[in-house]
This record gives sequence, C-alpha cells and structure tokens, in this order.
Amino acid sequence: MANKVVKFGGSSLADAGQFRKVADIIKSDAKRKYVVPSAPGKRFSDDIKVTDMLYKCCELAGSGVDFTDDFRLIKDRYNGIISELGIDMSLDEDFNAIIKELKARPSKDFAASRGEFLNGKVLANYLGFNFVDAADVIIFDTKGQLLLDETVKAVREKLGGLDNAVIPGFYGRTTEGYIKTFSRGGSDVTGSIIANAVRAEIYENWTDVSGFLVADPRIVDKPDVIKVITYRELRELAYMGASVLHEDAIFPVRSAGIPINIRNTNRPEDDGTMIVSDDFDFSKESLNHTITGIAGKKGFSTINIEKAMMNNETGFGMKVLTVLYNNGLSFEHMPSGIDTMSITLSTEKLAPVRDKVMAELRKAVEPDHLEIEDGIAMLAVVGRRMKNTRGTVARIFASMAHARINVKLIDQGSSELNVIIGVSEDDLPEAIRRIYDMFINSEK
Ligand code: ASP
Repeated sequence: MANKVVKFGGSSLADAGQFRKVADIIKSDAKRKYVVPSAPGKRFSDDIKVTDMLYKCCELAGSGVDFTDDFRLIKDRYNGIISELGIDMSLDEDFNAIIKELKARPSKDFAASRGEFLNGKVLANYLGFNFVDAADVIIFDTKGQLLLDETVKAVREKLGGLDNAVIPGFYGRTTEGYIKTFSRGGSDVTGSIIANAVRAEIYENWTDVSGFLVADPRIVDKPDVIKVITYRELRELAYMGASVLHEDAIFPVRSAGIPINIRNTNRPEDDGTMIVSDDFDFSKESLNHTITGIAGKKGFSTINIEKAMMNNETGFGMKVLTVLYNNGLSFEHMPSGIDTMSITLSTEKLAPVRDKVMAELRKAVEPDHLEIEDGIAMLAVVGRRMKNTRGTVARIFASMAHARINVKLIDQGSSELNVIIGVSEDDLPEAIRRIYDMFINSEK
C-alpha cells in the first residue's frame, strides 16, 4: 500500500493535548504509517524547548557542575505527558542512562538527540506503533556528512518488515558509532530522508502554521496561504528569509519527486501548502495569482561606481569583482548601466573591510565617483507564472510609484522566476503591502 511519511514539529508535540491531536491526525489516514517526531517544543512563548534544556544539562555536565535540577525539569515534561495521556510506560531507565552518559562523556549531539529519542518512545507507545531508533538507520560519515545511500539501505531494511514505525527526528549515528545531530530544526531533514527511502507518495510536515504565507503576516494583515509552490520558488523565498522548513529537507524528497505538504496540527482541516516540482499538474489549482510570494530582507548596502565610458573598458567588472574577492566578499546583485555599476552586498559583511575595499576600488578602476549607500532593503517578488504574464514589472513599478516609493535598483533573473527590487529600508513594509494589494487583493 502506498504510504505517507508524517513529521510533527516540537510545538505539535509540546504537551499531552498536542499528542492527542497528533494521534487523531495519524489515525485518520491509514497511509500515515511512518511518523517522525521532534522533541517537545514550547507550550507558550516563554517556555523552554526540551532540546535547549538538554543542551544546558550538557554544558553543566561539561563543566563538572551538578545538573540534577535541570534534568528534573526534563523528566517532568515527559512524565507529565505520559501521565496525562494515561499510558503505561516508564522512561526511568532511559533517564538514568542519559544522566550516566552525560557525566561520563558530555557530547552536545548526544544530549540534544535525547529529546527526540524520548519523545519517539512516548509517541510510539501512545500510538501502538513500532519504535525504530534513528541511530540504527540515519548514518553519517566520520566528518558528520550524511551518507544518503547507506541510510536509504538501512531504512529499507529496518522498515521493510514493519507495518508502521515512529522514527525520532534530528539525529543518527556516525560510522564510528557516535550520535550525531543535524543542525537545529533538523527533524525536517529526517522526515525527508525517510520519505525518500520508503518512496512515500507524500511527505507531510505538520507544524503550527497552515503553510507558507504569501507575505509576512507582521507586515500584511492576514495574508493568504500559498496553496502550491515549486521547489525553485521556495528556494527564492527561503533565501529572502521566509522560513518554515529546514533548507536541507528539500533535496531528499525533491530528488525522488515526492511533494511536501506543510500542514497545521491545530487546524488539520486546512489544506496547507504543497511544495511540488516544476512538472506538477498545475491545472488542478483553484487560485491563480500571477505571483506566488513576496519576501523582503533588510541590511544591504550598495557600492555605486561611476565612470565615463565604463562600457568600453575591458575587464572593468573583473577588476571590481577581484577587489571583492580579495576581501572575501560575495555580492547579491550587480545591475549596471553604460557608465555605472552598483553592487549590492550585506552591510554587516562589508563593515570590517569597508575602507579597505573603497581604497582598493579607487586604485583598481579609478572611478569618477564612488560611494556606498546603506540602509537598503531587497524585496523579492517570486512567481512561476510571471514568465508568461505581461506587465508584471510595470505593475510592480506602478504600485511603487503610487506609494511614492523610490526604487533604487531592479534585477530580474533570466529564469523570470523573480523580480528583485531594492528600496530604502524604511519603505520596505509599505512596498510589500502595495505589491500584495496589486497582485493578490486586486486579482481576487
Ligand atoms: N528539536 C530540535 C530543535 O529544537 C530539532 C527539531 O525540532 O527539528 O532544533
């Protein structure tokens, strides 16, 4: 039978009430056979994630300080969930083994991984599912790089004979036998790898939002949820700071042609966002806005270079880029005119070498005018349909003009998947709202 891999984030499993919602979701679809849980997350905004509590215990253990009190809080979280769910199990042996190991070898990765390990055990017991330790199936090399082929083989061997399984997220083991975690938020990656290995028809990633939003809800009032987004579009938006999913969670499913569905544990009736490849049958979509999403990022500077007859000077760009390269700087955009060139880069990265870069540029290209402008925000308007729609850029500019927002730079990649504009940081929120109105509200 076809199967689905379902991953639940920390807030989806923060307390017994959340566990019940998760169990209802899993039990409502027999295809949801493989479950990847995170560690218990925050129950309220000032709460502490179990993962962070574990990191703290490890730090204390490493400095030879008694961590009994801190560890007790962790025990209380799990014991509270177990007793409220009314399940018959005890994690005491596991707790003792963890304390012993932390005292003997306080490894950060081992400590952090226990949050998912213990939560996986509780969830498996509550669901009546098999528990499969991620240390037996997710395999890293000695440098901590995931060994995908070995992992896929191990997952298939282990899950092959099982009707269902709970596999904790976030960690695995190295070929030398040490526990190793992914970077923070890495349970997303585990889910993606398991989905690849079992050739899932879909990878459902359950969290506390109903999918990706067209724009930042702190800027636009109740923005629409993106129903369908391609992997390429997602990359553009994620790069600009829209984050819901761990970056490394894309590759394993994308390479296997498996869509990801972002869902909300607290609103399972919502469809969420589908992340699909370019060859998805988009005709099934109900909403067809020209754009998919808008994202903005502050903290950029532009180096503006002016020189008469720049266009005739061979190697001009090369000389400029060599200066950046020699100073270890990468740039974001480089629109140029006949006699001008502007290079957008991170203000923070530029800061330590700012004067040096200016002096070297003066020497390298002898510009007529050279200046740095700070306080620039970059705004990306992303959408696969822009390619076949005329007038998109005109509409973006019209909305900026009506709001009297000065566009400082524009960059449209050859893929025509996005249009990037640079505006002053103060104008960013209004620019995003205007574009949202132009493309989403007015297309409804
Ligand atoms: N529990 C880990 C973290 O807090 C991993 C995860 O939630 O995906 O980063």
